[in-house]
Amino acid sequence: MSKRFSLSIVIGVLILLISVFSIKSVYLTARPTVDTAQVHIKEDRATLEGIIHKTGGKEITRYGFRWGTSQGLDQEENLSGTINLNQDFSITIKGLKEGVTYYYRAFAVNAKGTAYGDIKSFTVKYNPPPVVSITSPGDSMTITRGEVVKIAASATDDNKVKAMELYINNIAKKKTDSGSLNYSWNTGGMEPGKYVIKATAGDGVKTDEKIINITIKDDLKKVAQVAVSSPATNKISTPTKTVPTPSRGVNYTNKSKYPRLSKINGSFGQFYYRDTGGGTIEIDPRWIAENIVTIKLPGINRYVQVHKNAKDNFIQAFTYIKNGTTVINGRRVPLLSLVETIDGTFVSRHVNWNPSKGLSNHSWGTAIDINADNHFRYVNPNWEPDDPNYILWVKAFRPAGFSWGNSYSDSMHYELLK
Ligand SMILES: [Zn+2]
Repeated sequence: MSKRFSLSIVIGVLILLISVFSIKSVYLTARPTVDTAQVHIKEDRATLEGIIHKTGGKEITRYGFRWGTSQGLDQEENLSGTINLNQDFSITIKGLKEGVTYYYRAFAVNAKGTAYGDIKSFTVKYNPPPVVSITSPGDSMTITRGEVVKIAASATDDNKVKAMELYINNIAKKKTDSGSLNYSWNTGGMEPGKYVIKATAGDGVKTDEKIINITIKDDLKKVAQVAVSSPATNKISTPTKTVPTPSRGVNYTNKSKYPRLSKINGSFGQFYYRDTGGGTIEIDPRWIAENIVTIKLPGINRYVQVHKNAKDNFIQAFTYIKNGTTVINGRRVPLLSLVETIDGTFVSRHVNWNPSKGLSNHSWGTAIDINADNHFRYVNPNWEPDDPNYILWVKAFRPAGFSWGNSYSDSMHYELLK
């Protein structure tokens, strides 16, 4: 007994212990358990997701994704940091190409080896650029200097239009972060000549542009008719006789010269006219002589041409403006201070100077544009209770019988309908 026997016991116990540890390390630890999960694709980026369900009983030393354009998966992205079991981990890969199929699989490594999830794939779809259109003015139009050109552009995209910009002769004029853009271009200070109007739209990856050409002319023949439509900053200090007087010889409409007949605009009548290009028209001078009168607007003391049947309404509206006040931010201010510019009472033209549209009511001298620069748009009275054009509508134009163009996003425009 004795020593030999004792040694055998010690050796036996050791063998047992070694066996237990070996069995544990061989059979009770394993590679991790990992799944390849979803992918979220946005433009040229994809976020890959994976989930580690089990560590395998050993510390995970490395995990991430293998990916590539073939099942060879030649790219690898490693992640570090805490691993939360049963929660997604993700990485974003960038610069992906349209129309290409990508493969990916999640992996996790511990001392026992590397475990993989399934190989999954996705194809990056073609991303069309936005489509831009300039809805106003029409291309190749000629504008008489001094008019305010309403530029309206819009863009659509399969995803989302993120930005639009407007350039006139490559000078940036306006920027929006939506799919529509409006700008009132006052041509009063512009040199006559050709102008390039460019609207661009981007979806974050691709951009598109639309270009139209506009000619500004200083048409002396028309100065008599459009002088009163120039901005208020161009002071007209003396009343001038601007209405053409028909001579006895042309007292009746020359229908070969003025072949087109307008609609009947209520009590304001109708007239013969001809198109003179660029969305402008020339109205039978006899109708002008019989219907268009020059009046002095109270308060702002400017001379404008209006229809004779609209005269009283214009005088009334501007009398309200001359005498009225309103409270803005706790301060009482005269209504007159809300009028920065007036444009376009009698202007012979199509809607938006676009020859394919109908005739503007400005052609009858029944409309006026106030504060054109920032009011070719809709004014929401709930959000902008202090908007000058809204206040002028409530306090002057509505009581004087005008309607307001705000319902069709032309809040500068007040006109008489009757
Ligand atoms: Zn107008």
